[in-house]
Amino acid sequence: MEVTISNIRKEFDLYPALHDVSLNIRSGELIALLGPSGSGKTTLLRLIAGLEHPTAGQIFFGNEDASNRTVQERNVGFVFQHYALFRHMTVADNIAFGLTVRPRATRPAKAEIRRRAAELLDMVHLSGLEKRYPNQLSGGQRQRVALARAMAIEPKVLLLDEPFGALDAQVRKELRRWLREFHDRTGHTTVFVTHDQEEALELADRVVVMSQGKIEQVGSADDVYDTPNSAFVFSFIGSSASLPVERRDGMVFFQDQPIGLATDATGPAQLFFRPQDVALTSEGAALSGKVTASRRLAGARIAEIDVGNDGNAHHIEIEVPLDAVATLGSEIRFRPTRWEQFAS
Ligand code: ATP
Repeated sequence: MEVTISNIRKEFDLYPALHDVSLNIRSGELIALLGPSGSGKTTLLRLIAGLEHPTAGQIFFGNEDASNRTVQERNVGFVFQHYALFRHMTVADNIAFGLTVRPRATRPAKAEIRRRAAELLDMVHLSGLEKRYPNQLSGGQRQRVALARAMAIEPKVLLLDEPFGALDAQVRKELRRWLREFHDRTGHTTVFVTHDQEEALELADRVVVMSQGKIEQVGSADDVYDTPNSAFVFSFIGSSASLPVERRDGMVFFQDQPIGLATDATGPAQLFFRPQDVALTSEGAALSGKVTASRRLAGARIAEIDVGNDGNAHHIEIEVPLDAVATLGSEIRFRPTRWEQFAS
C-alpha cells in the first residue's frame, strides 16, 4: 500500500510538533524515520496510524484520503518499543488476538485463526513456542511475537516505533537482519522509527532524516551519507569535521588564510568533511592543526587536532595513515579531498 503524506502540520496546544511535512512512501518500501529526540518521528508515525489527527494536511492510503479514518479502518499493524504482550495469554493467543476481537462478520473461524497463528509463528521462527507465556521468552523472542501479532490482521502498513530499542546490541543486530529478511519475504509497506543511524542506514530502502518537526532529507543510505543536503544531515549522519570559512575570489579561506580549496560561491559558510576524506600535504595552501591526542584504528589513526589561531582554535578529528607523524604537539597539514559547504 502506498502512503502519501501531504503538507501535514501537527500542533499540541499550539506547540508545532510537525511543520508542513510531505512524504511519499512507495508500496512495499521499508522506510526509516531517523532523527534526534523530539524531532517528530513518533508523531509522524502516530499520524499515519490514525492514533493522532493532523492539525492541517492529509494522509492518503493509495488514492484514498485516510485523514479521518480510525485506526481500525486504516488496518495498520503497530509495534512499540515496549512490546506490550498480554502476560496472561500464551504466545499463540497473543498472536491471534487481533483476529479474535474482530466483529463476528469478519472474524475467521477458530480453526482458521489457529492455522494463521501457526503460520505466523513459523514466519517469525518461533514454532514450538506457542504454548509459552511472555515471561518465558527472551526479549528478542517477545519482540518477534509482537511483530507476528501486528501481522496477524494482515495490515496494509506495518508501523514500528523503536522496535528494538529495549534490546541489547547483539539481539538488536540479529533482529535487524531478521526484519529485513522478513520484510523482503512479505513485501509489506513498513515504516520504522529509530534514533540509531546505523540501524536506519543498514535496514531501510530510504531514510527520512528529521529535525525539529521537519524533514531534512529523504534518500537511500548512500544519498544521505554521501550527498547530505544540509549542515544538519552532514553532522547528524556519520562522523564529520566542520570549520567556519569565508569564500571570496574563487577560494575558501579559514581565519583569513586560503586553504587550497576552490569555490564559485561567496560569503561566510560552514565547511564540512569526513575524517577519512583528507590528504596530508607539505606544500601549498592547506589547513594546519596541532595534535592534541591520537588513537589507533585497524588500518589508520585518528588524530585529534586544534586547527586555527590560539584562542580561536577548532577541535576536529581527522584520519591519518599509520606512518604519519601524529605525536602530541606535532603539526599536521592537510586538505579535505571531499567536502561540502553550507552558507552560514
Ligand atoms: P523521541 O525519539 O524522543 O521519541 P520523537 O522524534 O519521536 O522523539 P515526538 O515524540 O514525535 O518526537 O515529539 C515531537 C515533539 O512534540 C516533542 O517536542 C514532544 O514534546 C511534542 N509532543 C509529542 N506528543 C505530545 C503530546 N501528546 N502533547 C504535547 N506535546 C507532545
